[in-house]
Amino acid sequence: MTDHPILVAGGGIGGLATAAGLAQKGLRSVVVEQASDLREIGAGIQIGPNAFHCFDTLGVGQTMRRGAVYIDALRLMDARSGEEITRIPLGEDFRAYFGNPYAVIHRADLHRVLLDACIASPLVEIRTAHRVTGYSQEGTKTRLHIDGQHDITGAAVIGAEGLHSPIRSQMIGDGPPRISGHTTYRSVIPADQMPQDLRWNAATLWAGPKCHIVHYPLKGGKMYNLVVTYHRDLQEAVAGRPVSRDEVMQGFEHIAPRAQKIIEHGDNWKMWVLCDRDPISNWVDGRVALLGDSAHPMLQYFAQGACMAMEDAVCLSHCFAEGGPVEDVLLRYQQKRLVRTARVQMNSRLIGDYIYHPDDAKAAVRDHVMKGMSPEDWCRQLNWLYGSNGLEN
Ligand SMILES: Cc1cc2nc3c(=O)[nH]c(=O)nc-3n(C[C@H](O)[C@H](O)[C@H](O)COP(=O)(O)OP(=O)(O)OC[C@H]3O[C@@H](n4cnc5c(N)ncnc54)[C@H](O)[C@@H]3O)c2cc1C
Repeated sequence: MTDHPILVAGGGIGGLATAAGLAQKGLRSVVVEQASDLREIGAGIQIGPNAFHCFDTLGVGQTMRRGAVYIDALRLMDARSGEEITRIPLGEDFRAYFGNPYAVIHRADLHRVLLDACIASPLVEIRTAHRVTGYSQEGTKTRLHIDGQHDITGAAVIGAEGLHSPIRSQMIGDGPPRISGHTTYRSVIPADQMPQDLRWNAATLWAGPKCHIVHYPLKGGKMYNLVVTYHRDLQEAVAGRPVSRDEVMQGFEHIAPRAQKIIEHGDNWKMWVLCDRDPISNWVDGRVALLGDSAHPMLQYFAQGACMAMEDAVCLSHCFAEGGPVEDVLLRYQQKRLVRTARVQMNSRLIGDYIYHPDDAKAAVRDHVMKGMSPEDWCRQLNWLYGSNGLEN
């Protein structure tokens, strides 16, 4: 390593976790973010036990635990019949199995905790209103190119600018992400706006053909997060566009009235068209590496994109702390993360097709298999994901 800092492009969950992780190992970084202030969208996020393993390593475990809501179960409902298909209990046995809980949290709270950890560290510098356009490298130096401003020089570049990463575009050149055509709408409502009989302390998935609804409590149960998805086959990558409730309701006529009511109670809906990419086997170019959605963007169906970004951050910091030439450090990081993140990317698509959105015989198979699973079966099934600290594939 040289005296230069590590340059982290993007101040989202992945970028901030990276800076916090590097600081934990005594390494300097500069986070370069395009937005003029750092914040997350107003929505919830599910965090598996693997994310809690990360929080502890990043030095934010206790603060994060205070802001999280500890739900009792993951519930799978048939959106057409309104009947429960199965539930995964998340109580004592689950926590003991994985050594950590499954929880939900407001994105702004998660992001804020990571940001505070960065601000508190003299090893992290944050530059907002800096839009990264690309990188160059020469000898032991790397440069981040910034729109309309001077380059920033560092020892390494970490591209954590998400789905439309310019660093990925320069490094891999694989064009825009794949547009799934699945349209997702999000709303966060006060708990008293949520139908009384659905104020469950659970992350609940109402699964129907080509559509689903998810809801769970946030902010100590004072709010509910609503996520509604439908295959509208849109071919434009939309992120956070405001839409009317009537638009969200379209296509849900066939689902149980109880589930439809959830949509009626949402307001201030915003829309996304979900994108991902096929896994790739190289995200390193010399002293430059990708991280989080820049490296392995995935559909939301496994609720693991942010968890994987934080695991990347932990693994990357760990590899830097082990030492060696920067090029070797980054290749080691990639080698430790590749199979696991690709597996989650691929599983996220499969889960969407076979658990969230199947119809007819495929739905019958899902119900049959999932009804036959005991809580112990679920723990064994998910151990590769939740039981790992992400330092090995
Ligand atoms: C509907 C939905 C639900 C989800 N639910 C979950 C869940 O329950 N659990 C979970 O773990 N994950 C979930 N995810 C996935 C998760 O949101 C992402 O995987 C995660 O936010 C990726 O973090 P990131 O830091 O890699 O990228 P981002 O969050 O996209 O952050 C990138 C940052 O880089 C900045 N940036 C972009 N371009 C530039 C540039 N040129 N120069 C400088 N800065 C730039 C952006 O402004 C942003 O701050 C969900 C995703 C969606 C769409």
